[in-house]
Amino acid sequence: MTQETGGFAAFNLNPNILAAVIATGYEEPSAIQQQSIPIIMAGQDMIGQAQTGTGKTAAFALPILHCIDPAKREPQALILAPTRELALQVATAFETYAKQMPGVTVVAVYGGAPMGPQLKAIRNGAQIVVATPGRLCDHLRRDEKVLSTVNHLVLDEADEMLKLGFMDDLEVIFKALPPTRQTVLFSATLPQSIRAIAERHLRDPQHVKIQTKTQTVTAIEQAHLLVHADQKTSAVLSLLEVEDFDALIMFVRTKQATLDLASALEAKGYKAAALNGDIAQNQRERVIDSLKDGRLDIVVATDVAARGLDVPRITHVFNVDMPYDPESYVHRIGRTGRAGREGRALLLVTPRERRMLQVIERVTGQKVAEVRLPDAQAVLDARIKKLTNSLAPLVADAESTHGELLDRLTADIGCTPRALAAALLRKATNGQALTLAAIEKERPLVPNSAPRGDRPERSGDRPDRGDRERRAPVPLAEGRARCRTALGARDGIAAKNLLGAILNEGGLAREAIGRIQVRDSFSLVELPEDGLEKLLTKLKDTRVAGKQLKLRRYRED
Ligand code: AMP
Repeated sequence: MTQETGGFAAFNLNPNILAAVIATGYEEPSAIQQQSIPIIMAGQDMIGQAQTGTGKTAAFALPILHCIDPAKREPQALILAPTRELALQVATAFETYAKQMPGVTVVAVYGGAPMGPQLKAIRNGAQIVVATPGRLCDHLRRDEKVLSTVNHLVLDEADEMLKLGFMDDLEVIFKALPPTRQTVLFSATLPQSIRAIAERHLRDPQHVKIQTKTQTVTAIEQAHLLVHADQKTSAVLSLLEVEDFDALIMFVRTKQATLDLASALEAKGYKAAALNGDIAQNQRERVIDSLKDGRLDIVVATDVAARGLDVPRITHVFNVDMPYDPESYVHRIGRTGRAGREGRALLLVTPRERRMLQVIERVTGQKVAEVRLPDAQAVLDARIKKLTNSLAPLVADAESTHGELLDRLTADIGCTPRALAAALLRKATNGQALTLAAIEKERPLVPNSAPRGDRPERSGDRPDRGDRERRAPVPLAEGRARCRTALGARDGIAAKNLLGAILNEGGLAREAIGRIQVRDSFSLVELPEDGLEKLLTKLKDTRVAGKQLKLRRYRED
């Protein structure tokens, strides 16, 4: 075991869980993990205030796995998540951490998939059930005893569950669980409604909140870019094209990610290396020395491995994976801007991590401006600038050394000097795209900005004032289609009910759903154009507030 896993080893988790954590490449527990794991392992109730990106899933998954008995083939832990997307993510995380625990099975229970196999998996002895509240209630209606053996309950993103209108379902679920169970609640915010739930359903809960001291950041220009998780590498490669850097450090979360990203960079010709907790001390020193003297330009590191790294040449920090907390963000970006020099820090943010960005902005008291990926023109300009810079110094005496050769070659080939210079350029640039059209073709499919309008409008929650303004046609975002249902406010519908139903039954990511407008006798929802027909078929039998949704494409003209 490497020294860096000492942090996880200190919890005394079941050795099979520890082995899986090490295999996953985690080097040390995040702050929320550090505090929550012992409390949950001890069987206590807990309220954790943490958002996505802090490592909260492992903060409850590891101790819950530790507490279950693999020999008992019955549901022992129930995790409730607001959406199908999150339920699947949490279930996958459990599977990863339980990889070396024979006999442990996890079932994800959500709408939009047939109920039979889900119920069968539960009855067949899955110890961990990860569910969305709506679908779980459907199961309870079929079999009210299905949760009677659960002795650990986790509410993940409790505030989101309430926003999506799951309060009544939660109450049904609480009633179906043994009163002696352990209850753990995670929520990014703690509004009164969440406190009320905690008061009614948690016993003497411990509170865990990551303390955030105000941090100062100076002389560092900060920016963020919205990307989807699977497009980070291509985003990094695009950014590198236009950033004028000397040396650069990139932060990622796992050892594997250091290796993957460093080799992607090397493949593109960058002088890059990985730095992680598995790398021996002498090798680590070699990497740092190489970064200092310019044999390397980019180091891809985990937080642990970058500890104490001080290289004045570093002009840029890329936070490719989100840090767990603002302190760590400030720490990371402090690697640049050394010795009074200007530095630049870029943070990649996935749509789900936006809240973490807000926390960072609040704690540092600074706005982290949004930047977009460079467009093809910017990439072209940057490539030509680099080429110009590399050729300009060679021009001065080239004619005296190679002029005669040029005359001879043009005569032998029978071409103009311009044609020969062009051929030499083609050779020197080694197939690099150097026209707009060629660059556009090779560009990654990263959206310039992740969809902004993904927060559904909750107009349905408000009284219908100012209706006239809201009736003005709203331009549709590209790639979106407007759909209509005959259900409206008079049917007791609010925007959150529509959102909850579509997310869970349609299996969409939250980002995929645009504006929701609830009128008295109908509602409009913006959905992705891509795959719309399939989605509408999937939602064919969906009911909201007891009535058929019957969503149809809506054409304004
Ligand atoms: P979460 O906040 O639970 O959504 O986790 C965010 C990401 O951090 C996930 O991709 C996890 O796999 C990763 N992660 C969680 N804990 C650690 C850790 N201790 N070290 C490295 N990565 C982690």
